[in-house]
Amino acid sequence: MSEIHKRYKAEGDKIIRTKKICERCGDAVYMAEHPDRQTCGKCGFTQYKRGRKTS
Ligand SMILES: [Zn+2]
Repeated sequence: MSEIHKRYKAEGDKIIRTKKICERCGDAVYMAEHPDRQTCGKCGFTQYKRGRKTS
């Protein structure tokens, strides 16, 4: 089993879990996935993944 395969699988799962809708545009627009943030290609809204942990 290669590291590449293992990593790809993990990232794929992560992308699915973190895929979200733009809170400005509404439910038809998805945020683009980046390593440390998510951006909307329509309105340009950017949301960073790293933030304060609640609780
Ligand atoms: Zn948007």
